[in-house]
Amino acid sequence: MDKEKIILTGDRPTGRLHIGHYVGSLRRRVELQNSGLYNKIYVFIADAQALTDNMDTPEKVRQNVIEVALDYLACGLDPAKSTLFIQSQIPELCELTFYYMDLVTVSRLQRNPTVKTEIQMRNFEASIPVGFFTYPISQAADITAFKATTVPVGEDQEPMLEQAREIVRRFNHIYGETLVEPEILLPDNAACLRLPGTDGKAKMSKSLGNCIYLSDDADTVAQKIKTMYTDPNHLRVQDPGQVEGNPVFTYLDAFCRPEHFGRYLPDYPNLDELKAHYRRGGLGDVKVKKFLTAIMQETLEPIRTRRKEFEQDIPAVYDMLKAGCEKAREAAAATLDDVRRAMKINYFDDAELIAEQARKFKGE
Ligand code: ATP
Ligand code: MG
Repeated sequence: MDKEKIILTGDRPTGRLHIGHYVGSLRRRVELQNSGLYNKIYVFIADAQALTDNMDTPEKVRQNVIEVALDYLACGLDPAKSTLFIQSQIPELCELTFYYMDLVTVSRLQRNPTVKTEIQMRNFEASIPVGFFTYPISQAADITAFKATTVPVGEDQEPMLEQAREIVRRFNHIYGETLVEPEILLPDNAACLRLPGTDGKAKMSKSLGNCIYLSDDADTVAQKIKTMYTDPNHLRVQDPGQVEGNPVFTYLDAFCRPEHFGRYLPDYPNLDELKAHYRRGGLGDVKVKKFLTAIMQETLEPIRTRRKEFEQDIPAVYDMLKAGCEKAREAAAATLDDVRRAMKINYFDDAELIAEQARKFKGE
């Protein structure tokens, strides 16, 4: 029998979700969910992980759990097809994390480039919370608890997947074949691997305040695009402009489809021609930004509308999450049973062990 194909992925409830999340992971999840090619899909809100660097603002995390859930539903994640749950409600994940800690060295954790950058960003250098430092291990627990084969995420998650794979290999080597090694699924489109911020910084990130949120209203989106960073040397329309490192063009790479030209910018046949004109000079930022705005509004409008509908019945969203947690917990508990058995800490459900000990002490 073929191995089950199982997806697991999640987001930290540190803010509403933005268009970086959308192209980096969320859009893909919805496509995979609707492809019918996967046996199970788990999507979770990583509140326990969010608390590792937001320990003193629990209210922020609490408020954003529902925001992320609404963003999920708005983007088309469907609780009938995907199990949506909240990390902290699955205590089995803590237990797995604790056992996996034995399989990872401090120096291995220190080498994680994403964690290094995040430590710098948060000014944690002198006082790194242990929970934050070890979150890649807890992420390995999240992934393996559900026997995930496929993890669709942005590029910043590559070191986490590598760490999870190492833990799986080491666990299986020591304790016998138990855990499933996950594969990362990165976006095909290079612009989507790590969408830059509206300020031109390398990554759009909730913590950096450089985001276009999926739930921003049309005016806010238009305003954010109007004031967003472009090529600082492209001062006059006739000046040659730079496309590389210019987030307006990166967003076009991520969102523009051929039919958008016919609808919103018929003077150009495609994105390559638009870029060529910008590079030559003679194409102003305002025109390009207007085109991008039209595309973003077209993309975000259905998401906004669906979100408004789900906002009308918040208790139903919490009920949906609660049901998801119960289902997720069953799956995680089954894996934990396997892990305990493999690690020989399943004393009471092992009749063979008890009989053997009894014989030993009788001197048989
Ligand atoms: P925080 O700043 O709190 O870490 P974040 O914006 O980085 O928040 P996460 O919840 O850490 O968001 O990431 C959720 C998912 O979205 C991950 O799969 C991550 O790879 C992806 N992702 C986040 N930001 C981007 C981005 N700018 N481009 C592409 N993918 C992204
Ligand atoms: Mg992040």
